[in-house]
Amino acid sequence: MRFGIAGAGFSGAVIGRELAEAGHDVVIFETRDHIAGNCHTERDPQTGVMIHRYGPHIFHTDDERVWEYVNRFGVMMPYNHRVRTTVGGQTYLLPVNLLTINQIFGTAMRPDEARAFIAEQADSSIEDPQNFEEQALKFMGRTLYDAFFHGYTRKQWGLPPTEIPASVLKRLPLRFSYEDSYFNHPHQAIPRDGYTEIVAGIIDHPRIEVRLSTPYTEADRGDFDHSIWTGQLDAWFGHELGHLRYRTLDFEEIRAKGDYLGCSVMNFGDVDVPYTRIAEHKHFAPWEEHEDTVCFREYSRLAEDGDIPYYPIRMTNDKTVLTRYADAARRETGVTFVGRLGTYRYLDMDVTIGEALTAADGILEAIREGRDI
Ligand code: UDP
Repeated sequence: MRFGIAGAGFSGAVIGRELAEAGHDVVIFETRDHIAGNCHTERDPQTGVMIHRYGPHIFHTDDERVWEYVNRFGVMMPYNHRVRTTVGGQTYLLPVNLLTINQIFGTAMRPDEARAFIAEQADSSIEDPQNFEEQALKFMGRTLYDAFFHGYTRKQWGLPPTEIPASVLKRLPLRFSYEDSYFNHPHQAIPRDGYTEIVAGIIDHPRIEVRLSTPYTEADRGDFDHSIWTGQLDAWFGHELGHLRYRTLDFEEIRAKGDYLGCSVMNFGDVDVPYTRIAEHKHFAPWEEHEDTVCFREYSRLAEDGDIPYYPIRMTNDKTVLTRYADAARRETGVTFVGRLGTYRYLDMDVTIGEALTAADGILEAIREGRDI
């Protein structure tokens, strides 16, 4: 069969590869002039530093199939992500751990003492947290919430945390030890030669043709037996049921000699500091040496037409619109919707790859059994 795939990020590349290996022909259409979507990396011509063009991406997973898959296409270098945060003129460790707790309360508690202390701080009157703020207050109490979560979340989402879903907080752990690794997964790494090289390896197959700077239009659909859409879900339908909203990011570049931050990511919790965080790219490749440094200051705002979509907003209104599109997507034939944009979900890279592999398995099985895809 002949497949038209919209998008050369991880979703499109992985599905394309699986279909090509099974003997199908694939054309991948990519609107931008490069592959790898928002994971795109490139070396800065002035310093040689590997730049995460659309913000920092750290690969972490507990999915062995996905881990083996990425290792087929590039050298994954062990990388332990650590994040610091500056708030009220002081610097602390994230995720909130025993050192963070002891620093902010001016104590020297051991794990059990800290656990009991935070349980006292927590607001036990909240039974069923309805939003981010309630979830945080129930979980950690006012002091930690005000310092580390209120301001950052307000800036990141552009809304009071009382209007943000409780689920957003669940991404972050609270630790009663001095462990300050940002992620818990057994595999944590960054590709030695960047994510773009990995995606290039995935799509490097004689049955795959890639067309850069070329949108997948309605007219193109007729040239293929089936479409895979990894673009914005509402865009497939011409936005006829409303717009699914996103947060976008603006990056302000900082160039300096030596070391600017002293770490890869510094968050800024104060609401009056307009940016959310600064990333220093050379620290994502600690195995390399660079004299000069490049950092991105990151500002978050509501995406307008033409802006690059980053974070699906998924507030109540957006979910109503999403339900309409999810129904429409179920009725639509000849297309499979996948990925962060195609399903309007906040997905880490490993989940994206895992879901793409599963989607390809499903398509190939349907073909073998002579069912509709
Ligand atoms: N968050 C926060 N303070 C921080 C870091 C994160 O309040 O210093 C909140 C914020 O709402 C954010 C969410 O936790 O959207 C998830 O954070 P994560 O670091 O997973 O976001 P990412 O960097 O992946 O966008």
